[in-house]
Amino acid sequence: MKDEHALTCPLCQSATVSFFEQDKRRQYFRCETCALVFADPACLLPPEEEKAVYDKHENVVEDQGYRQFLSRLATPLMEKMGSSGLQGLDFGCGPGPALAAMLSESGHEMAVYDPYFAPNTSALERTYDFVTCTEAIEHFYMPHREWRQLLSLVKPGGWLAS
Ligand SMILES: [Zn+2]
Repeated sequence: MKDEHALTCPLCQSATVSFFEQDKRRQYFRCETCALVFADPACLLPPEEEKAVYDKHENVVEDQGYRQFLSRLATPLMEKMGSSGLQGLDFGCGPGPALAAMLSESGHEMAVYDPYFAPNTSALERTYDFVTCTEAIEHFYMPHREWRQLLSLVKPGGWLAS
């Protein structure tokens, strides 16, 4: 078993982590400070293998079932925001940016970013009225850094929807 004392929490960076679970593929640890459960960083896939997994996701912009799934986030978000014509970013949009398409169709101006499928880092150099992030946060390798980045993209008083 991995020496848990060699690990720090990838979210709060606490050094107090303990063994949590072993499945067929990897070990998981739990942070005693923030309760994050995370996979052994040594088991995370290198970028080209991670992208190959996402390439198998069949997320199509027009897929009605997928849109139905995304509406569980999009509908309450749009109700909260009230007005249309806002500027938003879909962070981690994946190979088929259906959520950005839905929000655009509802009158918002959408930008997309994804490290593999829309790697336009210029989209990360400004702020937005709202930022969405679906099916992506659980894939963050360094959440302490990626969460900070997500928050820095949202205007004061704006919305982060995940
Ligand atoms: Zn932690």
